[in-house]
Amino acid sequence: MQQSKGAEIVRGKTKVLYECADEPQCLIVEQTDAITAGAGARRDVISGKGRLAALTPSRVFRFLNRRGLPTHFLSGGEDVDDNAMLVRRCAMIPLEVVVRGIVAGSYAKRHPGVQRGSPLDPRVVEFFLKDDERHDPMIVVDEIVTRDIARPQEVERMSELAREAFDALEEAWQDRNVTLVDLKVEFGRLTGGERNGEIVLADVVDNDSWRIWPQGREEAMLDKQIYRNLAQRDAEGLARVKHAYEEVAEAVAGFDSR
Ligand code: 5GP
Repeated sequence: MQQSKGAEIVRGKTKVLYECADEPQCLIVEQTDAITAGAGARRDVISGKGRLAALTPSRVFRFLNRRGLPTHFLSGGEDVDDNAMLVRRCAMIPLEVVVRGIVAGSYAKRHPGVQRGSPLDPRVVEFFLKDDERHDPMIVVDEIVTRDIARPQEVERMSELAREAFDALEEAWQDRNVTLVDLKVEFGRLTGGERNGEIVLADVVDNDSWRIWPQGREEAMLDKQIYRNLAQRDAEGLARVKHAYEEVAEAVAGFDSR
């Protein structure tokens, strides 16, 4: 990545956003070694996590771009890039869009009559409002529109892109005998340029954004749920988390090589 960092814009729980000194329509996203869960209630630092947190989303976004899905990702994320990736500047839409192929997580809690681990056909798309204080409550489409968070056509476009991203990633994981259970994506509207206002996949799609179960076995999970579930956040537990993140960064490097 040739571009250099400009002023810091915002510091999130695990990453820092900078202006791009050379290109005003771009931003630089730098990952840190922090790992958090439960809106920051659980927080640790794992040396080397920043590197993995840059590798994984940049590889996933490259894959999605190659599949023709519009994302904000431009370049970077590899080992020479200091845990940073270059993205198109966009205005984030404060929603988490979740696609589910298998019953798990909060869906299982909200639907106690439905068997955990059973397939959802057709896939379910849900929206959650990004609001740490209220623990990202679920939000229905009508409310998204009446609160002016997004227009109806934008909601439709986000659902469509989220499903397409799920399908592409599900297939790539399936090739490795790993089941993609669910996926969380976020969107932004490009700002400036010819594509001003266009909805693109933004933020990151990484090992925190999905549930992945090797051989369809929940107990073999490789995703962030391992960290969320850790009873003891000791060196051994955190090493297990890091090992899973390494395995995932390695696996996503091979996406597309069919
Ligand atoms: P659930 O609603 O079942 O807890 O989560 C559904 C999917 O969205 C899971 O793959 C989970 O990892 C992801 N997800 C939910 N909330 C967040 C969040 O705040 N941050 C991230 N990175 N992923 C989330």
